[in-house]
Amino acid sequence: MNIAVQCCGIAILIMIWYFSLRQKPLGLESEKLFLITMGMTSFCVVMDIISIVAINYRELISEFLLVLICKTYIVSLVWVGYFGLIYSSTDFRRTRAEQRKKNRIYTVMVLTGTILIYILPIYYYLEGDVVYTYGPSCMTTYVFALLFVLVTMYKVGVRGSEMNPKRRRAIIVWMCIWILAAVTQFLNARLLLVGFASVLGMIILFFELENPEANLDRETGAYNAHALGEYTRLLYEKKEVFSAMLVALNDTAAVGTDGNGLRMDMTLQNIVYYAEKLKGVKVFKTLERELVFLTADENRMQEVYQDVKRYIEDLGNGKKETGQARVAPYYVLLPDPSLLRNVEEIFQMLRDFRVGKREHPEENSILLDEKKISQYKEREETEALIRSAIEEDRIEVFYQPIYSTKQKRFVSTEALVRIRNKDGSIVPPGRFIPIAENNGLISRIGEIVFDKTCAFIKENKLRERYGIEYVEVNLSVRQCEDTKLADLYISIMKKYDMDPSYINLEITESASIQTRKNLLENMQILIDYGVKFSLDDFGNGESNLNYIVNMPVSIVKFDRDMSQDYFANQKAKFVMEAAMHMIHDMGLEIVSEGIETKEQMEAIVELGIEYIQGYYFSKPLPGDEFLQFVSQSFVS
Ligand code: C2E
Ligand code: MG
Ligand code: MG
Repeated sequence: MNIAVQCCGIAILIMIWYFSLRQKPLGLESEKLFLITMGMTSFCVVMDIISIVAINYRELISEFLLVLICKTYIVSLVWVGYFGLIYSSTDFRRTRAEQRKKNRIYTVMVLTGTILIYILPIYYYLEGDVVYTYGPSCMTTYVFALLFVLVTMYKVGVRGSEMNPKRRRAIIVWMCIWILAAVTQFLNARLLLVGFASVLGMIILFFELENPEANLDRETGAYNAHALGEYTRLLYEKKEVFSAMLVALNDTAAVGTDGNGLRMDMTLQNIVYYAEKLKGVKVFKTLERELVFLTADENRMQEVYQDVKRYIEDLGNGKKETGQARVAPYYVLLPDPSLLRNVEEIFQMLRDFRVGKREHPEENSILLDEKKISQYKEREETEALIRSAIEEDRIEVFYQPIYSTKQKRFVSTEALVRIRNKDGSIVPPGRFIPIAENNGLISRIGEIVFDKTCAFIKENKLRERYGIEYVEVNLSVRQCEDTKLADLYISIMKKYDMDPSYINLEITESASIQTRKNLLENMQILIDYGVKFSLDDFGNGESNLNYIVNMPVSIVKFDRDMSQDYFANQKAKFVMEAAMHMIHDMGLEIVSEGIETKEQMEAIVELGIEYIQGYYFSKPLPGDEFLQFVSQSFVS
């Protein structure tokens, strides 16, 4: 009786069982399916042995029992194929419902195979040491097992990019071994290899994927980032309530001596060790100095937060053994991740707040509650809006006419950016400029606006046809910091063969000295080229006259608030009058923004301010409407 190969298989399976059951399970889908597939494979190998024994001693048992045993063995082979297929689908980005639907088809397939195998006749062959079965029942087994193998290979081929590359590789190797074994056994029925081939498959899956270390971080023993991704996806899909807390251990206080890397590891180890003993907590190490804690609910999260915080403080104070290590932890608490759309968004948000979006940098924790999440989502949406608008050329420039009180006509205009939505509606800059300034996209927007403005001026010969002497274009502080700004803007003007006296760039005050330095350099190059500058938003907040003294601007724009205050408040009136006189004495001109009524307009004219911009004359208009508007009042 030749059952040596099968006995080896059993020995290997026992070893894999031992190691698999020793690991701390996370409850992942793939974990469970692996154990089920292992169970099926073990059953298959045991049945393989039993069937060989039964054929050898067939005179001792009934024919019915013998057939039952042999058929059960080959049925179990088909089932291993079935579970192999389901296991390999665990990475596919499907919803659980979609997956269940697919699995139902496979289940129908496997049940059909099972019934056919039990119905169709089987024959067996025994001569000396050689034992095997054959006949229609065995052929059916081949067909179905092969079907599962081929579907698996096809899926892995088509959706491979969605899979964990390790899993993909392991499954391909496993399937190849199976095909090889099946072909060999088909050609030479005496070699009973198929059952053993599934054991080999298990070895590959185990070592590549499901071994105890696949989900663990070696240094700390916590689960790793991969495990966190898989686990949260599972919780999220099952719609289970859970809370997350990220702890970033900044080493600012710890760096300085060489041994710190080691100490940080020890600190992490200590924290992990401590936290794992807390009830209902799972700890993941995601980055070198970052731990993520998951708990079942918000209340538990608060308790864990307090406990962990106290523990880390004690570590820092030297109350614990490895207390030399000083760490500056930053906690990001996310009580209800289900408010976010998917797992990617959860981690994105946790990380964003860890890295930079701290509203109060001096505080060491932040609670991402509903309000923060909705702000965050809005910001993400706006970012996406800006990006798509840039890509699809939906950035537009509107023009608001500026009236000269001396010439009593429109002599200039301010170019103001807008985003046009796909449905044609307009997004005002107030909604996206602050976000674009934050993420740097403002530079690209500024460039587009400037380019379009130049094209507009050139195409419509604004000076000759409409009496518009120059156009004001806003510069953001972010752009001014960029040392290449002047070159870029000059190259755009050259592209349109633009007379630089057409351009007046609007700058705003900035507190940073470095920004001011770069801004001044940029301004100097552009002024030498022939461009002029205006100071925007004067009178809003902490603008000061000193700034005007130091900045080579030709025009100062009084902010809408300042203009409005002028009419409402006697003191503000004095301030504005004094400012006006000083600015005029410096040889600069003034634009009053935000003039909305006739009375206001008349008062400003009376006061002696040179230019007026405001809804009284017109709101910012799309290019063609603007041209129409100014052509009515311009007689060339
Ligand atoms: P700003 O440069 O001070 O532009 C003047 C803003 O005041 C414009 O708002 C204009 O529509 C508004 N305004 C003018 N007259 C009146 C009035 O009588 N009443 C009222 N209520 N508002 C008036 P807008 O177009 O929404 O732009 C807002 C801000 O967005 C601008 O303020 C500017 O800081 C920024 N911005 C606009 N376009 C650009 C751009 O291309 N680049 C950069 N960096 N910033 C831009
Ligand atoms: Mg402006
Ligand atoms: Mg302004």
